[in-house]
Amino acid sequence: MRMAISIDGNLTNDPARASIPVFDRGFLYGDSIYEVFRTYQGRLFAVNEHFDRLERSAAAIGLRLPAGREAILKEIEKTVQAAGTAESYVRLVITRGGGDIGLDPALADRPRMIILVKELTLDPKWKSGQGITLKVVNVRRNYKNALSPAIKSGNYLNNVLAIAEAKAAGADDAIMLDFEEKVTESTTSNVFLVKNGVLLTPPLEVGILEGITRKILLRLAGENGIDVSEKDLWLRDLESADEMFLCGTIKEVLPVSALDGKPIGSGRPGPLTMRMSSLFDEFTRRSSL
Ligand code: PMP
Repeated sequence: MRMAISIDGNLTNDPARASIPVFDRGFLYGDSIYEVFRTYQGRLFAVNEHFDRLERSAAAIGLRLPAGREAILKEIEKTVQAAGTAESYVRLVITRGGGDIGLDPALADRPRMIILVKELTLDPKWKSGQGITLKVVNVRRNYKNALSPAIKSGNYLNNVLAIAEAKAAGADDAIMLDFEEKVTESTTSNVFLVKNGVLLTPPLEVGILEGITRKILLRLAGENGIDVSEKDLWLRDLESADEMFLCGTIKEVLPVSALDGKPIGSGRPGPLTMRMSSLFDEFTRRSSL
């Protein structure tokens, strides 16, 4: 597979030659932040939105970014060029750096920047248009006053455990509830459902990542006269939904066909899901002109 990796500006196409020191705090403690960008027609999508969120994540954990937006973007573009990919998956990781063992962030020397670019490949199941299956897992989403899901940090064990539980039960991905049993999100995507023609999604206050795709979809719905509401949702709302879909940078708008082994609505992608999917497609096409 075509790829390129940049570590603090050192480029290679060989992942075996791309390594970081074992004392790096990203490796030891998940003391890092990241963003996943993608290209459409070879052009990076929603760059400012990703950088805004990166800066919010950095501020939330008191991490100094190693360079300004322009310089980081330039390095990303260089890495994409070096990868020679048709369409790119771009992961930007910034760790707090290395230092002697110990949790105190003051032990860190300097932030380290890793850019990983690979060919954008999609799960065949996503492309089939049939929709995926979800399980509401027992693993709860991190409590927002413990490790806020709004921070896109390298500490994803909560989500790893959730998808592992879903997969073990034969589902494709997980829906996580919070401590009060409110619906939060999936493991790497936000969730929307449709009830009586209204688009519903949990509010940011419940403790979720502010997905860029979610934000774009909310805006597109508003602009196109589609009823939409950000409100607390519970398991019963999921179970009685007419339609459901996940959304994220890589998944885009991904229909959900079944939850906990029971079909959602007709079990096929519903009309509002298809509408949001085509509005989003149009938007990405316009943005990459
Ligand atoms: N929630 C979580 C936990 C995620 O990791 C992601 C992927 N970044 C999303 C939601 C979707 O966010 P976006 O639309 O910005 O990709």
